[in-house]
This record gives sequence, structure tokens and C-alpha cells, in this order.
Amino acid sequence: MRIALFAAKPYDRQFFDQANQDGEHEILYIEARLSPQTVQLAEGFPAVCVFVNDVVDAEVLRRLQAGGTSVVALRSAGFNNVDIQTADALGIHVVRVPAYSPHSVAEHAVAMILALNRQIPRAYNRVHDCNFSLEGLLGFDLNGKTFGLVGTGEIGRVLAKIMSGFGCQVLAFDPFPDPQWADTAGVQYVEFDALLEQSDVISLHCPLTPETHHMIDSKALGKMKTGVMLINTSRGAIIETQAVIDALKSSKLGSLGIDVYEEEDKLFFENLSGQVIQDDVFMRLLTFPNVLITGHQAFFTKEALQQIASTTLQNISDIAQSGSCKNQLHAPKSQG
Ligand code: NAD
Repeated sequence: MRIALFAAKPYDRQFFDQANQDGEHEILYIEARLSPQTVQLAEGFPAVCVFVNDVVDAEVLRRLQAGGTSVVALRSAGFNNVDIQTADALGIHVVRVPAYSPHSVAEHAVAMILALNRQIPRAYNRVHDCNFSLEGLLGFDLNGKTFGLVGTGEIGRVLAKIMSGFGCQVLAFDPFPDPQWADTAGVQYVEFDALLEQSDVISLHCPLTPETHHMIDSKALGKMKTGVMLINTSRGAIIETQAVIDALKSSKLGSLGIDVYEEEDKLFFENLSGQVIQDDVFMRLLTFPNVLITGHQAFFTKEALQQIASTTLQNISDIAQSGSCKNQLHAPKSQG
């Protein structure tokens, strides 16, 4: 198929070209994100390929269909940026990569937990300045602490295993629990409130949906232990950023690690150094010594990019050959 691949970075080209060595697909790499302003670039392409911050709303979908597009292939697991209902109504197939190395994201969450706990960024800067004082770098043993996992899907399960290895007691909340897995993994399912109340470290691994939007708000933060560590590598809007800033200011929240941010589409994946950042909320977050931010890089490992490229192209081939694909998304109403 001819594929218009939006939001293309050099690494996308590298891994997609590798996965397309047999030349089955013709890929046009487009640096711009898909949006109402750029959708005309997809005209005549039966497939478009998008990432997490491309806009695939009703207007864009209607214009894609008018231009002859019948497949939207997400090179991500999350799909909150796509209006699936409209896509269904228009007969546009939406496919995604449900499980590309869940290890990449789980391991990044662990990197954030360890870096925050042992204050690695601050220690690194101090030593470079020949400041060998340990004041303010005090951490805690993860062994024996309670780890709260919100979402026990692909990524959550890998993380549960790693945190159990540290000697943590792992509590989990998921509206669709899997007791059999929990038994073998030594994980205890609890209600959301109990998880908030009992955990020393909380990590979010659920999708962004109307139910999880601002799931971590001032009420949820109020139920947490004072000094709790909160990690979000899922989607920014699961956390209400202003509530988290208030909790950091009052020291209710001990530390925060985020790889995603509510308004990240205006910031992430671009080099903005030298520019005046207009987002005051984001800039406030940067001022806290106990906040660690990465720019949506949790997925960014060699293994994950290989898997994303090969699964995405396979998804498109499946649709081209049989009109269906196991990784196809449907609006809830039409799910069997
Ligand atoms: P998954 O679909 O395998 O698992 C998600 C789990 O969340 C499921 O078990 C589901 O039942 C659960 N869930 C749904 N609603 C919930 C709720 N209200 N509360 C708690 N749990 C709920 O997905 P995954 O592969 O584990 O990925 C999880 C999320 O991570 C994705 O939706 C995506 O947004 C994010 N992600 C981020 C990156 C990154 O680079 N930062 C990369 C991949 C995925």
C-alpha cells in the first residue's frame, strides 16, 4: 500500500525502511503532524500512519475518507487521539500496535523511580560541580515498600514483576482484574481508594479514557500517603497537573516522575531550546527539585521501534489482503 507516514522522525524512517526491506509498501515520510492543516498531504494515500500527538478527529477523518484513505495505522498502543466512533461510521479501519516491548515502558518507569528516589539528576550535577555533599540526597529502600499499580495490562504486568524483585509488596487496581495472573505474580488487587491510601509509590499504566481523565485529581491526591512518589508514563491527562502542582507545593506529594504531560502536543518531540516556552504550568513543574520529566521517551528502545515498525506494516498488509486485522480498533458499541 501507499502510506503517508506523519510526524516522521529520522528514527521512524530508519526502522520503517528496515521493516519494509521487501518493498511491499511505498512510504512517504512527512515531518508534519496530521491535523486539519496538513490532512491534504494524505490525499490519494490509502493508508496513513500516525503517532500519539497527531490529530485524528472527526473533521480529519472525514477529509481522509474524501481523499481516498481507508486505513489509519497508529504506531502506538494508546489511541485516545483517534475518534474511533467516526472512523467506524466512515468505514475507515483503525489499527494499532497493542504490545510492542512492554519492557521499554516498564523499565523507563523503573528508571524514573530509582532516579527520583536516589536523586540521581541532582547528584550528577553536584559531582560535576565538585560538590560532594550528601545533604538533601537521602533516599529510601524500595525493599519492603508498598507499590501501587494502576492498570494491569501488558506494561503493568512487567512492572509488577520488576517491583516484586525489589522486594515491594505490589497492590493493583484494574476495573478488569485478572485474579489468576495476580495469584501467580503475587500481586493483590484492591479498590482504587485502598491503593491510594496504602502505597508508597504509585505508577499509572491505564489508557486515557473519559473514566481515567484526571483520575489523579486533588481528591485522589488527598487520599495518598504524605510523601508518596507518583509516576505517570501513560498519558498526561490522567493527572490533573494543577492539582499535582498544589500537592508538590504542600509536600503532600514527595516526588513526581512524568514521561507524559496534558499539553505535551505543544512541546514534546521537538527541539525548543532557545525558544520562550509559553506554557507556565509546565515551566512551574520544571522548578521543583523533586520532579523528573522526560519527553515521552518511555517507548524509545531499539526493540520497541523494531516491533512498532514491523507490526504497523503487518497491520496494513492484513487490512489490504483480508479487510481485517487482529489489531483493529472499534468503538465500544460495535465491539463483539
Ligand atoms: P493494556 O491495554 O495492555 O493495559 C491497560 C490496562 O489498563 C488494562 O488492563 C485495562 O483493564 C486497564 N484499565 C482500563 N481502565 C482503567 C481504569 N479506569 N483504572 C485502572 N486500570 C484501567 O495497555 P499497556 O500496553 O499496558 O499500556 C498502558 C498505557 O501506557 C497505554 O494506554 C498508553 O497510553 C501508555 N503508553 C505509554 C508509552 C510511553 O512511551 N510513555 C508507550 C506505550 C504505552
